[in-house]
Amino acid sequence: MSEMTLIDGLPIKGKRTLIRVDFNVPLKDGQVADDSRIRAALPTIKYAVDAGARVILVSHLGRPKGQPDPKLTLAPAGAHLAGLLGREVILADEPIGDGVSHLAHGLRDGQILLLENIRFHPGETKNDEGLSRALAQITEVYINDAFGAAHRAHASTAGIAALIRERAAGFLMAQEVKALSRLVNAPRDGFVAILGGAKVSDKIKVIERLLGKVEALIIGGAMAYTFLAAKGQRVGASKIEEGHIDTARRVLKMAAEAGVEVLLPVDHACAREFSADAKRVLVHDVEIPDGMMGLDIGEQTIAAFQRRLERAKTIFWNGPMGVFEFDAFALGTRQVAAAVADASAFSVVGGGDSVRAVKESGRADDISHISTGGGASLEFIEGQALPGLLALGYGRG
Ligand code: ADP
Ligand code: MG
Repeated sequence: MSEMTLIDGLPIKGKRTLIRVDFNVPLKDGQVADDSRIRAALPTIKYAVDAGARVILVSHLGRPKGQPDPKLTLAPAGAHLAGLLGREVILADEPIGDGVSHLAHGLRDGQILLLENIRFHPGETKNDEGLSRALAQITEVYINDAFGAAHRAHASTAGIAALIRERAAGFLMAQEVKALSRLVNAPRDGFVAILGGAKVSDKIKVIERLLGKVEALIIGGAMAYTFLAAKGQRVGASKIEEGHIDTARRVLKMAAEAGVEVLLPVDHACAREFSADAKRVLVHDVEIPDGMMGLDIGEQTIAAFQRRLERAKTIFWNGPMGVFEFDAFALGTRQVAAAVADASAFSVVGGGDSVRAVKESGRADDISHISTGGGASLEFIEGQALPGLLALGYGRG
């Protein structure tokens, strides 16, 4: 694959440098609830400011459906960024328009302008030519640092890039690509993938791809019950995807043919109802009695998964092992997070909920790479060409 140009490979002093960042952060009571994504963009923003660029930041937040939605304003993100940088961040009150153009052309070297949520404009998700041109009109240098949006061909991730000759990746984008490339190119020997979360159907492509790369596949979370059902085990009232039992059966067959070891839960933490205060009942058997649902992996399973991870040289983890949002059913996910953190392996965690679970477990610093892109990291591993990367000239030729 071709190399990407990085922001530090372009002259940006005095140039209106539009940086596509991923400030799609969770908000609570009008404040940024988790600023990881903003912090992850700091190296690129600081570099641009220090280099004397006239910085224009563009991001989306949530899904405002192409029109202004006061609940999804980037104002809290802008205020938070200003606090982190200790400098002014000018907030535009619209994503594009005469006012924005005026502000952009009035920027001095080192100043920062944050455009309002780009998805307030209906053209963003349609990769609309008009919006791309309007953005290009205020841009001299285009930088994409929004790995989390790289799997979307939108106006601010793809359309604009085609119109600007001086374009490059930001440091976060480069770091994500480097870590995920190392993962997909890792030797099969010692490569263990852990997959969990809600649905087999969400993850089937990545599972199939990983079967060609890994030595062992650990499966937990709700999706494990569809696999257990495929093996003819009783799963009680656990959440399974009836329509994907065949898919699971096919994956197990492919794994057997490829010589991939598959580890499934051998015991469970169950409840009679899906609720935060449901009583935690340990089922010391692979089969789950009628009326009970598996909400977490059991203790023998945790131990088996831990032992397998100790020997790993490369680990990829996506999807929690249980309903970690409920305290009583978070143990499996926390223990697996600890096992990944303790392992000497090169470890990558991707996926919105998995990343949250790892952070809550307090072991995030001991993971080699925590991806800021959920969908984007999965599509990268699936081997799909990401439009945001293609637009930077990466992955062609
Ligand atoms: P990620 O965001 O990391 O890709 P997913 O979105 O696929 O992960 O899955 C996360 C969700 O899966 C969580 O909300 C969690 O509660 C749910 N989940 C995990 N295990 C179970 C289970 N045994 N039963 C029901 N839901 C589960
Ligand atoms: Mg999720």
